[in-house]
Amino acid sequence: MTFFAPRDAETSLHCPDCGTRLHIARSCREVHMYCPACRAHYPLREYIHRADEAMERFLENVYCDRIE
Ligand SMILES: [Zn+2]
Repeated sequence: MTFFAPRDAETSLHCPDCGTRLHIARSCREVHMYCPACRAHYPLREYIHRADEAMERFLENVYCDRIE
């Protein structure tokens, strides 16, 4: 059985540059926000205080994946 958690999810937050919906994604052990249109990356800490439902669901998966 393979454990599957999404590595990318669309959020309801908008890119400060172009207004496209930002995605939340993880690579290795790091989670970040990015804009699929202008390919800019944004640190999660700048958005975490207004995390939406999609982000919270995503982060739940990330965090239960790395209990230490
Ligand atoms: Zn953008």
